[in-house]
Amino acid sequence: MDLTHAAALASILGDDKRVLTHPLLVGQLSRDFYWYSPVLRRQLDGKTGDLVVQPVTMPEIQEVLRYCHAHDLAVTLRGAGTGNYGQAVPLRGGVVLDLASMDRVEAIQADGVAVCQPGARLGVVENEARKIGWELRCYPSTIVKASVGGFLGGGSGGIGSVAHGNLRDFQTVRAIEVVTMEAEPRVVKHKGEAVHDILHAWGTNGVITRIWLALTPAVEWSQCAVAFDTFDSAYDFSERVAIGASWIKRLVTTFEWPIPSFFTPLIQYAPEGKALIFFMIASKQRAELEAAAREAGGDVSYAGSYAGLGTRPLLSDYTWNHTTLWAIRADEAYTYLQCGFEPATVREQMKRLRERFGHEILFHMEFMKNGDGQVIPGAIPLVYFTSEERLNEMINFCREIGVFVANPHVNNVEGGGRYRADNVQLLAKKRYDPKGLLNPGKMITFETDANAGATATGATTK
Ligand code: FAD
Repeated sequence: MDLTHAAALASILGDDKRVLTHPLLVGQLSRDFYWYSPVLRRQLDGKTGDLVVQPVTMPEIQEVLRYCHAHDLAVTLRGAGTGNYGQAVPLRGGVVLDLASMDRVEAIQADGVAVCQPGARLGVVENEARKIGWELRCYPSTIVKASVGGFLGGGSGGIGSVAHGNLRDFQTVRAIEVVTMEAEPRVVKHKGEAVHDILHAWGTNGVITRIWLALTPAVEWSQCAVAFDTFDSAYDFSERVAIGASWIKRLVTTFEWPIPSFFTPLIQYAPEGKALIFFMIASKQRAELEAAAREAGGDVSYAGSYAGLGTRPLLSDYTWNHTTLWAIRADEAYTYLQCGFEPATVREQMKRLRERFGHEILFHMEFMKNGDGQVIPGAIPLVYFTSEERLNEMINFCREIGVFVANPHVNNVEGGGRYRADNVQLLAKKRYDPKGLLNPGKMITFETDANAGATATGATTK
């Protein structure tokens, strides 16, 4: 890229320290956790932006976008860069817009809504909220590092989803303010159903600059680990707690052996050969849970109170997509899938996968509530990678037997499995980024359908 752009952008910000051009820094801020996937590793290694811009206010973002629009520069948005799909990796160079400095939690409103800037860390929101009796409804296991804007742009759910569903459910995201990529960038507020135009669009259709996120009343939590001789008995017990309406829980995660053997700091709580369940359960139900676990044949290998994100051990650090990280540390050949099993036939589906793929697939189950209020068995199974063909065979087989797969080995919004059939994200892209400069290459329906019309869906211009 012509370095005059760096000088021009520095003069727009009035601060050349917030325009980074050193290749090492630009390279670091062009990466995320795409390397979880051996397929994406091959595709994305070495992809980088040309420079990084670090705005601190929304008007600065408008000015930067106005300049980039005029000069046809690609802009890739970055929160904390913890996404797994290469979501924040620029495919066509250009500007990386690093929003980490816009990190203020502006308010925790009395009605339980957090108002934040996009770079606010989810962990900070959680801590601030808990001080006054609220907490996040759901969060990724990367809570300490991940940003609210990045979670809305690229995440889905996590700890808490067993009780409150995913980010897209139950009006958890109350409103989003975005800046558009046009000759004159507009500030647009999306409320109600219109938040879905922007959610999980990988920063392809607007820069999220402010978020209104609904919270839930805080609970005093405890953590428990329960070991069972067989995965089947562990699964039965975890399912009972996950779907049992009377249990107040934030996390129900089930691992088959040898997954617990990868958790080296927790090895004393992971008896050899046994399946393990990790719970976050209301402290007032902990004794009851321990008794129920023992009655079901389980052995409570760890139980302790939870005093926030600094608690050690923090069991959530081993769940959701952290499990995959521990597995990769143990053996680099591990990768993963993101699946949704059918509640009524989950056991049969797991049996068929085992028959067909043996221990190439290892079961790691995560329960979550869907938008209809039903708790369903999600899963982030580990896959022992041998070839892309074998991986695709597994994905195809899952789909054949009715297991939903959000494929984490593709680098576009549509392939990743959270794309909406009503195309609202694409329609918003056509309205807000007609030149296709925001994270280009990541919304393939836009690239192949550049001439289709656009319809407004409830967004209002300020
Ligand atoms: P980034 O990676 O920086 O960005 C994610 C996407 O959002 C990118 O496409 C980016 O361009 C876009 N974006 C960033 N900021 C904005 C903005 N202001 N406006 C518009 N678009 C924007 N995810 C889960 O959902 N649940 C999990 O439990 C979970 N566990 C994980 C565990 C590990 C160990 C790892 C490595 C990842 C995990 N993830 C999980 C994925 C990721 O951590 C989360 O989705 C996280 O919320 C992403 O936040 P971020 O700030 O790092 O976003």
